Amino acid sequence: MADTQFETIIKGTQDKCSSCGGHLYFSPEDQSLKCESCGGLEKIVFDHNNEKHNYEVNSEIKEEHKKFAEENKVFKCSSCGANVVLNKLDVATRCPYCDSSIAIAEDVEIGLRPDSIIPFKFGAEKASKLYKDGLKKKWFLPSIFKKSPPMDEIKGVYVPCFSFDAKSHTVYRGRLGRNYTTTSRNGHTRTHTTYFSISGARDFEHHDILVETSSHIDQIVFNGIKPYNLKELVVYNDAFIRGYSLEHYDQALENCKKVANSIMEQTIRNQILSSYTYSFVESYSQNVSLSEEKYSYYIVPTYSVKYKYKGKDYLTYMNGQTGKVGGGLPKSPVKITFFVLMLIAILAGIILLFYYF
Ligand SMILES: [Zn+2]
Ligand SMILES: [Zn+2]
Repeated sequence: MADTQFETIIKGTQDKCSSCGGHLYFSPEDQSLKCESCGGLEKIVFDHNNEKHNYEVNSEIKEEHKKFAEENKVFKCSSCGANVVLNKLDVATRCPYCDSSIAIAEDVEIGLRPDSIIPFKFGAEKASKLYKDGLKKKWFLPSIFKKSPPMDEIKGVYVPCFSFDAKSHTVYRGRLGRNYTTTSRNGHTRTHTTYFSISGARDFEHHDILVETSSHIDQIVFNGIKPYNLKELVVYNDAFIRGYSLEHYDQALENCKKVANSIMEQTIRNQILSSYTYSFVESYSQNVSLSEEKYSYYIVPTYSVKYKYKGKDYLTYMNGQTGKVGGGLPKSPVKITFFVLMLIAILAGIILLFYYF
C-alpha cells in the first residue's frame, strides 16, 4: 500500500475500496475497513497517543473539527428523538435505538469531533451470541426468555462521554465523633462518645472521570455495562464509525464538567475522612481548588437490543468491548417469589437454631 493512500485512510477520507470501488465499513473482526462487495480489507492505523485538552482553552475550532463537520451529519429520529451522527457515505439510515427511519436534522450543530474511541471488538453476529450467553447468567429472567429471547435486531452504537483529569488542593476542617464502650465491674456495658477536631490540607490527582452524555442511556444503565478498558482507547478516526452510528452528545461539555467536579469533591471527602477512625461526622467542610484541568471526548461501543415481551417494550444494552450485558431485562414473578420464600426459610432456620441452643 502506497504511503499517500495510507495517509488518506488515517484521515478517514478513504471512502471507496481500492480494488473494486465498493462501499467500505468497519469490520470489528478484522479491525479494518472491509469492502461490502469484494471483501477486501483496508488497514486502519491504531494510534494510542491519546492526548487531553486543557479545559481552560476549549474554544479551539481546529481544522479537524471542521473536517469532521463536513464529513458527518447529525440525523434525527422522528420516532424516539435520538440525535445520531452518521458518516455522509453511510447507507444505513435507521435509528440504532428504535429502528425507525431517520432524517437529516438541519438545526443540530455537529459540535466536537471525538478525540478518542474504543472500536467495536465484535460484530453483530457475535454480539447476538454473547448477548444470549449473558442472559443465562441473569437469575430472575423468565425461563422461556432464556431459551429463546424474543429479541429484535441488535444494533451497534457508539455512546459519547467526556473524560476529565485534574489536580486538586483541598483545605478542610471538621469535627468527628468516636463511640467506645466500657464495662463496669458488675458486667454492664456503656457507650460513650468522644469528639475530636480535624483540619489540614491534602493534594490529589484525578484521572479519567467518565461522564456519559447520551440522551438514551442514563448513567445508571451505563454503569451496568461498565467498565470499559481505557487502555484500548485510540485516537479517533472516521473509519471506525463506518457502518455504525454515533450518538450525538446530549449534554454540553460544561454540564458534564460540573458532574465530574462533584464526583471529584465526593472522592476527596471520602479519601480524607477514611484517613481517620471515627463513628460519625458531626461537621465537615472542604475548600477544593482544581488545577491542570483537562478533558477529552471519548466514544465507547455499545449494542442496543430491543424486544417485546408480554406486550411490553424493553431496550437493553451490552458493552461492545467486553460483551457485558446490562440490566433492564424482564423479571420472572415466580422466581422472585421463590427467592423471597427461600430467604424467609433461611431466616426462620437461623432463628430456630438460635432458640434451640
Ligand atoms: Zn472491493
Ligand atoms: Zn429512534
